[in-house]
Amino acid sequence: MASDSVIEISGLSKTYGSGDKGTLALNRLDLRVNRGEIFGYLGPNGAGKTTTIRLLLDLIRPSAGSARIFGLDIRNDSVEIHRRIGFLPGELTLWEGRTGRQIIDYVGSVRGDAKGIAKHADELAERLNLDTSKRVRDLSSGNKRKLGLVIAMMHSPELLILDEPTGGLDPLVQQTFHEMMDEYRDKGKTVFLSSHVLSEVQAICDRVGILRDGELKAVESVEKITNVEFHWVDVTFRDAIPAGLPQQLEALPSITDVSTNGARIRMRMLGDFDPLLRAISSGYVETLHVEEPSLEEIFLAFYSGDKES
Ligand code: ATP
Repeated sequence: MASDSVIEISGLSKTYGSGDKGTLALNRLDLRVNRGEIFGYLGPNGAGKTTTIRLLLDLIRPSAGSARIFGLDIRNDSVEIHRRIGFLPGELTLWEGRTGRQIIDYVGSVRGDAKGIAKHADELAERLNLDTSKRVRDLSSGNKRKLGLVIAMMHSPELLILDEPTGGLDPLVQQTFHEMMDEYRDKGKTVFLSSHVLSEVQAICDRVGILRDGELKAVESVEKITNVEFHWVDVTFRDAIPAGLPQQLEALPSITDVSTNGARIRMRMLGDFDPLLRAISSGYVETLHVEEPSLEEIFLAFYSGDKES
């Protein structure tokens, strides 16, 4: 195993059930996550993200393949691995009748150095604006999520594995979480997080892997992916679309997918605005809207050849 790999997965597969009714949730996954990086694991619902995480944590057993974390085998060395990681499950189950404080103290005592851990937990709770004196059953879902994050992070683990960490968190808290992740990386620690929130992944991750139908479709640096950013541009003319404009736009190398609707013309534009602005100036432009593409669209563009542009 390369010394800078924290997670190394080879040929990992999982089929739930058997025979005709079996679901192939993960199909021969090969993936390496390096020390000191924030890796975003992206994919639509049912892609196999949670299955991967549950396999890594030895909560379920693979149908084939293997994986190592810190060079240790996920099945044979799971106790040692669990000691060194922090984990936030997608669906968090906590003791409903206990307060956050009680749970933090209990988990801290199991992990050793209860005092040091509790102190760090207090700092984390304060930053996330979490009241640890409340019983779990009285916490909103967002606040439960915050408690889950505190528990995952309070012993400053070398590796954080987070399943949809910011689901239900308000934007301010998400921002704090992003800052925490940056600090984590600065300390040389590693984060593996699953998400469908593409903008979040864009904001905090170094690399992303895209999973679809149990297969890893791509692994790229976020920087490289976002370099191919394009825009959707919508132009409405006061009277009508100038004659020949759609054809003129189609002929521009930066423009594709031109469609018209009355006095409105919509297109997909890659790169600089200038050629487009010159072309549309032949008419009276009433409104011009520019839409950011979703990261999903950027990915699709990237893998359909726009990356050469
Ligand atoms: P989401 O974003 O919705 O959480 P996901 O990417 O985490 O999705 P998984 O939960 O890993 O996806 O599910 C992958 C596939 O495996 C899906 O088709 C799902 O229905 C199936 N699956 C997951 N858990 C089980 C299970 N315990 N038994 C049978 N099938 C399962």
